[in-house]
Amino acid sequence: MALMRQTAAVFLAVFVLVAVWFTTPHLEIFVLIIILYLMVLFIFKFEHPKSTARIYRDDAKPIKMPTTGGEGKSVVVVGGGISGLSAAKYLIQAGCNVTLLEQRDIVGGNNDPYLENGEHLSTTVIITLPAQQPHYLQLCRDYGLEQTPHEFEDQKGSIVFGDREFNTKMGSGIGGFLKFIYREASLKELFDGFIIFWKFYRQFKLRPESNKSVADVLGKRLVNSTVFTHFYMPWVGINTWCRFEDVERQPAHVFASFIFEYALTVDIRDKTAKFKEDHWCVLDGRLIHAMRDELLANERFTQSLSTKVEKINRLENGSLTVTSTAGENWSCDAVIVATQPTQARPMLDEVAPKILMDELEKWKQMDCYVLFHTDFSDIGNRPWLHQTHKNQTTGNYYITNTIKPVMGDLNAKYLITYVYNTDNYLDFKANQMDETTMVKLYEPKLPIFNLENSVDRNTVWREIDSQCTDVFWTQACRSGLQYHNNGIVSAKRVVRGVLGLDW
Ligand SMILES: Cc1cc2nc3c(=O)[nH]c(=O)nc-3n(C[C@H](O)[C@H](O)[C@H](O)COP(=O)(O)OP(=O)(O)OC[C@H]3O[C@@H](n4cnc5c(N)ncnc54)[C@H](O)[C@@H]3O)c2cc1C
Repeated sequence: MALMRQTAAVFLAVFVLVAVWFTTPHLEIFVLIIILYLMVLFIFKFEHPKSTARIYRDDAKPIKMPTTGGEGKSVVVVGGGISGLSAAKYLIQAGCNVTLLEQRDIVGGNNDPYLENGEHLSTTVIITLPAQQPHYLQLCRDYGLEQTPHEFEDQKGSIVFGDREFNTKMGSGIGGFLKFIYREASLKELFDGFIIFWKFYRQFKLRPESNKSVADVLGKRLVNSTVFTHFYMPWVGINTWCRFEDVERQPAHVFASFIFEYALTVDIRDKTAKFKEDHWCVLDGRLIHAMRDELLANERFTQSLSTKVEKINRLENGSLTVTSTAGENWSCDAVIVATQPTQARPMLDEVAPKILMDELEKWKQMDCYVLFHTDFSDIGNRPWLHQTHKNQTTGNYYITNTIKPVMGDLNAKYLITYVYNTDNYLDFKANQMDETTMVKLYEPKLPIFNLENSVDRNTVWREIDSQCTDVFWTQACRSGLQYHNNGIVSAKRVVRGVLGLDW
């Protein structure tokens, strides 16, 4: 895909130059156009060395995981989400003895399945772009898991924009995106839309990462413009866990990361990605299942499900004890807590270094509702539907995304709708859908990105990890957008810490 894009750009450039040469009699205009063209190329190539884009580039680099060095060391991993499972995998690979404690009766964490006739139907976590998630992609390749594209390129999804709908094919790239907004938006919307787009691009790639919020970067007029409230918010905000009340505190670079890292990718992170791996793919439970099965087959691994960890204590001789709410104890040389920040704090507060506790304090969490239902009245045959609604009780806007578990599946049996905050969930259920079609409700909590916890995070976490000796913490939110890749890369870094290595 990257090669095709580059070839197309070269052909386009040659075509434009030849066309301009033959149509203009003025050499100075020809030279001016070439200069303008080079300027545009320069802007899109330029990347500030301290930009968010550069942090993503660093996070995409391969990390060498040791195959020795942990022999005889016992490690307890708390939490069986993708980050905890990855930590357990790499600890076992290095020779450690590992005990995994998970409070639920199933591993997977937020990758929460709906199980029907033994089949794993994705619910909360359903979509990935493997080419942008190299650590995730590498794990899938290691287990021989082929990517399953959503195969929805020929179907149009919609962003509902007041009484209009913006219909577009997801994954059609910047060209397709520009074509669709040119066709469907008014001149003012186009103008506002492009300014917003440019401001986020500059924040993502051209400037050093800074603690500027979405509202700081856009200013009052743009943040209240319909393009922002009814287009950017349902399209981007729903994916970066940004509610309307968060625009003053969500860093602009987090918001921008979804646009330029995933939706309209400007740099492919894994250039080795092959066909299918560079498409939007289904994120089902196969990786979780493969990791779980490999771990369970290893005699140095033990797992205890339905075990909620309450506290981690340090004994006088310096060794660590992990205690569950049922009063069971596990002694070990090191602990990796792989839960969300608010879940980690009470267990860690007496054993973790202050620098780690101070960082964990910066995270609050929000209520998220995932409705698994069969009300197709709004979405019809479309693969996805992003919307901004007005809460009939509070009068405030809120956003939803309704999506098919396999987006290209025209015969889909189920739908998933994401909505944030209890009052919005109640409004959506009462006024926007047929409640009787609800099959299952999931209520995951989500850590909230803010200006204190998400700026220059790799400098912060490198320092924290270097100060941890036997108690570590990992979770996807540590590292930018909370996707699977972030959970895996963080786990790799703390496992190296347990083994006495730096990042
Ligand atoms: C609604 C929703 C949609 C999402 N969509 C996507 C998507 O499409 N693509 C994508 O890549 N990512 C998506 N994500 C993000 C994804 O969920 C996370 O990146 C990933 O699951 C986080 O994994 P983790 O291991 O870091 O943490 P978690 O999944 O939060 O795992 C933490 C684990 O710790 C356990 N635990 C907590 N406290 C204790 C305790 N005291 N004792 C024992 N165990 C404990 C929990 O039960 C859980 O299993 C989505 C998240 C949500 C909520």
